Amino acid sequence: MPSSHHVILIRPEASAKPAWGAPCNGCGVCCLLEPCPLGMVLSRKRRGACVALRWQDDARQYRCGAVMAPKEVLQLALPNFLKAWVPPLAWVLARLAKRWIAAGLGCDSTVQAQANSPLNFPAPPDEPMP
Ligand code: SF4
Ligand code: SF4
Repeated sequence: MPSSHHVILIRPEASAKPAWGAPCNGCGVCCLLEPCPLGMVLSRKRRGACVALRWQDDARQYRCGAVMAPKEVLQLALPNFLKAWVPPLAWVLARLAKRWIAAGLGCDSTVQAQANSPLNFPAPPDEPMP
């Protein structure tokens, strides 16, 4: 399988990604790279950071918003005509999301993460003068 490289923006305080199968440390790499199946539904996309991902300052970890902030996530994800359903759907989502995302089963991402400072990336080209 050909290898590919992607750049993700990540909190500098986040822990380094552990090896596949090790306990999840909330590094956020998997959800910042591409959404899981639930995240694809919530984000309405297959690539890039999941809209449900949340940073928790006190724990210094990324957490799944479908579990910890289901109302907020559904407010963002649902079209206006379905917003009245946010409270009952949030209750259901919070209870099912843990199972859907296999929370607590260890890191299921085989991504090789390499830290790099934004200062090491080449500067964008200058804007052309008007
Ligand atoms: S685990 Fe949660 S935050 Fe991560 S991709 Fe899935 S829905 Fe999004
Ligand atoms: S599953 Fe792995 S990559 Fe995803 S947040 Fe947990 S430790 Fe990080």
